[in-house]
Amino acid sequence: MKKNITDFKLKNQRVIVRCDLNVPIKDGVILDDTRIKACLETIEHLVSAKAKVIILSHLGRVKEEKDKETNSLRPVADKLSELIGRPVKFVPYTRGMEVENAINSMEPRDIVMLENTRFEDLNGNKESGNDSELAHYWASLGDIFINDAFGTIHRAHASNVGIAKLLPSGIGFLVKNEIEKISSALNNPERPLVIMLGGAKVSDKIGVINNAVKIADYVLIGGGMPYTFYKALGYNVGLSIVDDSSLEFCRNIYSQYKNKILLPEDIVVASSISEGASTRITTYADIGSNEVGIDIGMATISRYKSILMNANTIIWNGPIGMFEIAKFSQGTRKVVEILSSSKAKIVVGGGDTISALNKFGFNNKRAHISTGGGATLEMLEGKELPGLSAISDK
Ligand code: ADP
Ligand code: MG
Repeated sequence: MKKNITDFKLKNQRVIVRCDLNVPIKDGVILDDTRIKACLETIEHLVSAKAKVIILSHLGRVKEEKDKETNSLRPVADKLSELIGRPVKFVPYTRGMEVENAINSMEPRDIVMLENTRFEDLNGNKESGNDSELAHYWASLGDIFINDAFGTIHRAHASNVGIAKLLPSGIGFLVKNEIEKISSALNNPERPLVIMLGGAKVSDKIGVINNAVKIADYVLIGGGMPYTFYKALGYNVGLSIVDDSSLEFCRNIYSQYKNKILLPEDIVVASSISEGASTRITTYADIGSNEVGIDIGMATISRYKSILMNANTIIWNGPIGMFEIAKFSQGTRKVVEILSSSKAKIVVGGGDTISALNKFGFNNKRAHISTGGGATLEMLEGKELPGLSAISDK
């Protein structure tokens, strides 16, 4: 068992908390503050326990000097201050005198946020390369380290793995909840366990499919992925998305797990990828050379529905069709409706999948909606998470 935030005496301690405050920002305005709200519980706990709270986070990618202009955490510090109802002192540096002075003058319950950890990537990729000098420097600023950034827990960076190895460390409430919910669905599911996978590319999800066929009772395939399977099985898929590097994989896994892997029987094909395109429903064996598969058909929806309604655990990643275009969104919308009324234990992960949930009014209070797309996928692959492994054991 990993230590968590409740295992520490926090009073008067300088607690470095790694959050995932990587929110979308345009022209200095935060477009979606979900991720800031998601770490409030941990920050509020630290404040009420009278800790000195030092927040680290990344924001976007910082590859060249000009990326700094659009990737400052300052608007995030302001937003956090508004949400938590306390001052959040923003220090526009990742190291140096200003940082040290701000921390040395902290009182218990104060909150300080440093600048985007990835500014250190301009300094020889120190953050993303888990540089030891940087990790030692940051660790020297605190007494305890709490990792509450689920979104980067599958990465070994200086601000999560590096610091965790140098200080007494634990996970925050957000990470604890994510790990518990996803692990229990994967490792100890109430059966039947149904894993539904969609999205665009098979190659992104080979590891997930490989693990899914081992642990699930059914693996439902949708989105852009069926076409690589169909092509591998010898059918013409027209202009549908195909991942040629995964043909061999699809052929093998399908022949081995035919009884578990379900492919759409009927699909919606379009003359082009646009709202004005003409569409028709057809079988996988009848896709025209100038047609593109963009959604699952009604027969497939009802087949998947009966499997989903019978499931006691459902894990979903990847939209079932090109839901961004209204005309191609029926399959994904139906799936969202089915999951809204499901009594199963549900875990949903993936940035686009969560956009689909929001777009189609997902309404199921008991479902677990993960804050980390990449981290969830790695858990679905059965991989170890470096950010978690680095945390002290109880
Ligand atoms: P997530 O972010 O939830 O992990 P992905 O990034 O893997 O999901 O995939 C999302 C994308 O898959 C969406 O942009 C969607 O339009 C696309 N997609 C869904 N169905 C198809 C299809 N039939 N052909 C091509 N792309 C598709
Ligand atoms: Mg995506």
